[in-house]
Amino acid sequence: MGNWINLNGKFVKREEAKISVFDHGLLYGDGVFEGLRSYNGRIFKLEEHLFRLYRSAHFIMLEPPISKEEMGEEIIKTVRKNQLRDAYIRVVITRGEGDLGLDPEKCPHPNYFIIADRIQLYPKDFYEKGLEVVTVSIRRNPLYSLDPQVKSLNYLNNILAKIEGRIAGCVEAIMLNQEGWVLECTGDNIFIVEDGVLITPPTYIGVLEGITRNTVIELAKKNNIEVKEEIFSCYRLYNADECFLTGTAAEIVPVVKVDGRRIGTGSPGPITGRIREIFREYVSKEGTPVYEK
Ligand code: PMP
Repeated sequence: MGNWINLNGKFVKREEAKISVFDHGLLYGDGVFEGLRSYNGRIFKLEEHLFRLYRSAHFIMLEPPISKEEMGEEIIKTVRKNQLRDAYIRVVITRGEGDLGLDPEKCPHPNYFIIADRIQLYPKDFYEKGLEVVTVSIRRNPLYSLDPQVKSLNYLNNILAKIEGRIAGCVEAIMLNQEGWVLECTGDNIFIVEDGVLITPPTYIGVLEGITRNTVIELAKKNNIEVKEEIFSCYRLYNADECFLTGTAAEIVPVVKVDGRRIGTGSPGPITGRIREIFREYVSKEGTPVYEK
């Protein structure tokens, strides 16, 4: 169970999987990552995760040591080696070892590693009763600093927001941009429902293009539920009929309270329930098989 780590293409035991203290991934958060999931021996949206990983790497001018296709194979091998069917998979590419300066030019050999472990599911209560969340004072990184579409190893922006949310007693926190538009959560995208229409912020405003988010958009449209990618404020959020969050680990979680304001009836709404059903049905069929060719 998750004991074998793929470190630069070699399987090593968990305790022996080590990276140099001079790796800029550690010294500066210089690197990129992905979080994937497998359902019953099938990796969900493997291509999409690889695509996002390699685009993040391209953005930070990091040349991965292996191709996207090879990385896909390494991910499959890692899940297989650990004999997992329902796994959470973490793929990390770091800038590699360098000196103590910032210069990535001094790091000639990027490292990569893949961890596949059992998925830790969220408590049932989250889904049945819905979450209470808050907006926090920490603003999401603006596009001109670090585009949130880049899934970089530097997650301090989100961690600070998470800490603020925790202090307020919440497991997730909603992040706004400088102007106060709602963007996303620390590790999830956000949707609201108004008159049966799903609304989520467009990625150009500065949110991670979540793979669960995109899947929900696609599945909703296929099932004749209208979707709009539109920016919205807290005013619209507080007055929405329903609200839910999306992410690889969380899947689809209803939100029933934001900043002390009840959302809709204060219980998970029917559209959220419908989306959850459609999504569950979809993940049971979709995915790249790990065990059969
Ligand atoms: N936003 C942020 C900041 C995240 O870290 C994540 C998790 N990767 C998401 C949204 C959700 O993305 P996905 O559906 O691809 O997991």
